[in-house]
Amino acid sequence: MKRTGILFQIILSLSLAALLVALVVGAVARRAEGNRLRDQLNEQAGLTVSLLSGLMLESIIVEDVPVLETGLQEALVRTPKILSIQILNSDDVMIATASRRGTGAQEEFVTYKQSVEMEGFKFGTMVVQWSMLEGQALVQERVRYTIMWTVLAVAGLSALVLGLVNMLALHPLKIIHFRMSDALSGARGRAGTLPWYASREFWALNFSVGVLEDTFAERDERELALERACEEADIANQAKSEFLANMSHEIRTPMNGVIGMAELIMETDLDEDQQVYAETISKSGAALLTIINDILNFSKIEAGKIELNRVPFNLQTAIEDVVTLLSPKATAKGVEIILRYDPELPEFFEGDVGRIRQVVTNIIGNAVKFTDIGYVYIDVAGKDNSKGYSLTLSIADTGIGIPESRLQSVFSAFEQVDSGATRSFEGTGLGLAISARLLALMGGGVTVNSTEGGGSVFTVQLPLPLADHVEEVRVRAPTLEGLTGLVVDDLELNRLILTERLNTWGVHSFEASSGTQALEVLANLPQDARPLDFAILDFQMPGMDGRELARRIRAIPDYATLPIVMLSSVDLAMGRFGEDGLKDCEIVLKPLRAAQLKQVLGRALSLEQQQLIQGSPSRVAPQSTDCIKLMIAEDNRTNQLVVTRMLKDAGFDITIAANGAEAVELFRKVQPGIILMDMMMPVMDGVEATLKIREIESAAQAGGAGCHIIALTANALESHRDKCLAAGMDDFLSKPINKNSLLATIYKWAEPPIGLTAETRVRQD
Ligand code: ADP
Repeated sequence: MKRTGILFQIILSLSLAALLVALVVGAVARRAEGNRLRDQLNEQAGLTVSLLSGLMLESIIVEDVPVLETGLQEALVRTPKILSIQILNSDDVMIATASRRGTGAQEEFVTYKQSVEMEGFKFGTMVVQWSMLEGQALVQERVRYTIMWTVLAVAGLSALVLGLVNMLALHPLKIIHFRMSDALSGARGRAGTLPWYASREFWALNFSVGVLEDTFAERDERELALERACEEADIANQAKSEFLANMSHEIRTPMNGVIGMAELIMETDLDEDQQVYAETISKSGAALLTIINDILNFSKIEAGKIELNRVPFNLQTAIEDVVTLLSPKATAKGVEIILRYDPELPEFFEGDVGRIRQVVTNIIGNAVKFTDIGYVYIDVAGKDNSKGYSLTLSIADTGIGIPESRLQSVFSAFEQVDSGATRSFEGTGLGLAISARLLALMGGGVTVNSTEGGGSVFTVQLPLPLADHVEEVRVRAPTLEGLTGLVVDDLELNRLILTERLNTWGVHSFEASSGTQALEVLANLPQDARPLDFAILDFQMPGMDGRELARRIRAIPDYATLPIVMLSSVDLAMGRFGEDGLKDCEIVLKPLRAAQLKQVLGRALSLEQQQLIQGSPSRVAPQSTDCIKLMIAEDNRTNQLVVTRMLKDAGFDITIAANGAEAVELFRKVQPGIILMDMMMPVMDGVEATLKIREIESAAQAGGAGCHIIALTANALESHRDKCLAAGMDDFLSKPINKNSLLATIYKWAEPPIGLTAETRVRQD
């Protein structure tokens, strides 16, 4: 709302006051002037009538009408204010009259009646009408004059008041107002100082504004200092992160020696003590490496150096992989990991599968770590939206839970609920901080719900686009449509997930929560046809276990040959089943993978060839004719030793180059099929050496597969990997190198010698 200024308000008020004063003064003046006029007229008229009556006394007494009328006419001529004169005799009969012609009907007049007397004797009456026209005009003139002067006086007074108000109030107020605005906006020097004549009140207000200015200035200074401190802290934090990233990178190189050598020592003949020592070195090395990886990861995220990949991947398999990896640890504690992957949810998405696996491994790993009794239940579901899927992974456990006061801090770096001297769980306290940050980078998030002693539920939200095109060699899956199965498991969750999965494959299923109930279900099935095609039994059940139930089912004549799939968290030796006459039971190690279950069911139902039985190689690699020539380009003596020893039994023809230049030289002579190329070497680094080797190759125009170069680097950054590939390298291995992954990567590019199974190859791929 636009507000009017105080000056305008004062002017308006003064104008109204002036108008009011003028009106009142006008009315009063009119009244006073009117009265004065009337008095004057009375006096004048009285005098004139007295004069006339004196002059005409004799004529009135004798009633000499002609003389009287002449006299009256004369009087009219001489006195213009007289409108008419009448003379009445002593009996009030009019004896003479004269009136002025041409007077307006509305003309105002006053009438005077006066007796004509002499010596106390009344001879008649004279009646005169006296005009007020001239007097009224005079009154009007005077009133107008009075009003004009009044208005002028009020206006002058108002102007004076206005000037004073402006000088004494408005001007100081304006200065204070400017100071106040300056203080608020942070500007300086727009306002002047208060004039000397400003009143005490304004000086007090001015002083308060000064205090306010000082306070604001202090606040601004503090804010500035704070900002600067923040910036410095940010820079320091970045420097710290970079230092940590560099340090952990430096630590990884010697760690390579420690872990690699420990692994190699364990392969030699050791006595019992030595074996324990070597294992301890290896385990401690691995634990240290996890910590270093955590720190590296965290500092990379903090330093903003994390790069996310976007590749198509199978989400279900990725999560099943994690569950399989963590299962032995859980099983050893008697904790079951249960995974439900919503059958409606597509499997293939696009994203950074490595990072997603890292997050899921951390959260499920924690759930297993902090749970001693019960289970860990993972539910994967999602809703589709315009951009793909909004996935929800909930990881619930029945473990120790988290006190409410610590719920949010679990996502902060280096925070552990149990961080006191009584710490009973290992860990850096970085896992969840890394996971939360990674998820945030991927556009998702993680929340936790937990009660102390009542377990925890971690819920991960992750938006992922569907994969555009999926090139996957799918194993021929058997069709189970229209079959009927029996699911027996004491854990309701497991039954639910299994039946849900079976239903999506078109299998109708019966459920039972115990052996006894399962036998009841079988007994109550209709007799006319055998409605059951297979049974899935849990091995570990209270009361009657899976083995006993299988034996009893087989004892029923109708089900003597019923295909049975036994689910177990413990790796059961086939022999023990053989003894029980349950040789043809399919045994599947928990955690169950959907695709695996389908294959096993197909196998149990003889839909697949017998050679597909678990564990037997499905494909034997072709025998390599020659021994593979392999060159190791590495300047560090320990690393040369580690890699050589790791490859010792694999039968390679190994050449060692101590730097890039030597590698190029030796390449010409030896023509190796594989080069393991360190990235950082003196004289010539790995990238340059690779470029040179690729030049030599293209100059020679050699046909065939050429030489495969695998980079060995302690730097795990994605950009580094791209740099290697751009230089013409084929693959990338980050240090510390582990024997299995080294062999797997080599065999990815060169055929393995006979004896190495294709199963290993697939896993390593
Ligand atoms: P850490 O490496 O110590 O496990 P995390 O960041 O992964 O670090 O976890 C931080 C802390 O949060 C843990 O030390 C633990 O106290 C608590 N926490 C995480 N997950 C769970 C869980 N499932 N149940 C109980 N406590 C948990």
